[in-house]
Amino acid sequence: MFVDSHCHLDRVDLSAHGGDFAAMMDQAGQDGVSRMLCVSIDLEHYPAMRALVDPYTEVLVSVGVHPSEQQGLEPSVADLVKLASADARVVAIGETGLDYHYNEGDLDWQRERFRRHIQAARDCGKPLIIHSRDAREDTISILRDEKAARVGGVMHCFTETWEMAQAALELGFYISFSGILTFKNAEALSDVARQVPLERLLIETDAPYLAPVPHRGKKNEPRFLPLVAEKIAEIRGLDPAEVAAVTARNFERLFLHAKGGNEMLGGAS
Ligand SMILES: [Zn+2]
Ligand SMILES: [Zn+2]
Repeated sequence: MFVDSHCHLDRVDLSAHGGDFAAMMDQAGQDGVSRMLCVSIDLEHYPAMRALVDPYTEVLVSVGVHPSEQQGLEPSVADLVKLASADARVVAIGETGLDYHYNEGDLDWQRERFRRHIQAARDCGKPLIIHSRDAREDTISILRDEKAARVGGVMHCFTETWEMAQAALELGFYISFSGILTFKNAEALSDVARQVPLERLLIETDAPYLAPVPHRGKKNEPRFLPLVAEKIAEIRGLDPAEVAAVTARNFERLFLHAKGGNEMLGGAS
């Protein structure tokens, strides 16, 4: 059974399923994806996202505003804590972090927003989902500064260096790999994926983005997650079932047994 540690179910293209969300979810289940974390990127779409996944108890959610989001509501620490602590299905704060690739100019607002998310995570005792792109040093130094190690979390869709992975591991963070690992030019990233301790490894689709080979460039769905597990298995000389099992256990440890107390949702395979 595979656990997708990061996807955006409210954005998945349903045309391959006749526009039927239930059919898309059913297909993911049939392909072995037994649990998913549906990640928030803004507050405007959050209520609809939360309602969409409500009937699916295998889907957990996060609350947060993406670092590249510039149009919508700016969340206060209190906004985030309120949404996260009132709802047992919320197991994380994010995605948050820094993105210097898609954003230019004075990015103080982005760093401030990142700090508020870390404070909220500490206030409610839930782990962080970190998005970091071309911002290695600032990401790590803000995580240290705001004492993110107290709650931990995941560096999602990791594409950075082994040095950055090590710094995140030292802070107690997990490293999650996406379909990018299956792309042709991913040798350096494969080296990182080979070195991350197995007990800190997670896998994700980041659907609807970043579909793994052979679906690269097309719409991604959680059902393609086994392709990411197979790639990691190949890189590390393991059986895909072992990768599935270890990443499922890691997911459970990080998100379902967090200090904030989501034990009530734990125990599933
Ligand atoms: Zn992201
Ligand atoms: Zn994402």
